[in-house]
Amino acid sequence: MQQALIEAKAAYDCGEVPVGAVLVYEGEIIARGRNRMIELNDPSAHAEILTLREAGSALSNYRLLDTTLYVTLEPCLMCFGALVHARIGRLVFAATDPKTGVCGSACEARDFPFLNHQFEIESGIMAEESSQLLKQFFKEKRNESSSHFYRSCRLKGQKSDLR
Ligand SMILES: [Zn+2]
Repeated sequence: MQQALIEAKAAYDCGEVPVGAVLVYEGEIIARGRNRMIELNDPSAHAEILTLREAGSALSNYRLLDTTLYVTLEPCLMCFGALVHARIGRLVFAATDPKTGVCGSACEARDFPFLNHQFEIESGIMAEESSQLLKQFFKEKRNESSSHFYRSCRLKGQKSDLR
């Protein structure tokens, strides 16, 4: 989860909602991702989706059997659906998302009767750190809300004018 949090911080530095994920197979991280919706102009570019895509390429398989996805925030419905399609073995998430989390917060997606795959779910690991990062992000966003200026991506080596 520490590695997923590193990805979340990278998203934060790019002005994206700070969520990060890694996928582990046979004890090794084979893929990692972070939210990149703004950067890619892609509403589906959630950390989980990008991580699954990278993992599919790494394993040359669209089924990601016996893998564990670590993500810093409770998945949304889209990502949960993708995890089912990917046939992952286990999901571990950090913070809960009362608004859009579907692993017990907004709803309990694993109880949907039409799902054709189930996986183990654990939560709470590094929840405080992950949640703090999100709170900090939204606090800053609120302060910036009167401006159309977006922080530039510090990962690309650009200096931010706001920080
Ligand atoms: Zn999602």
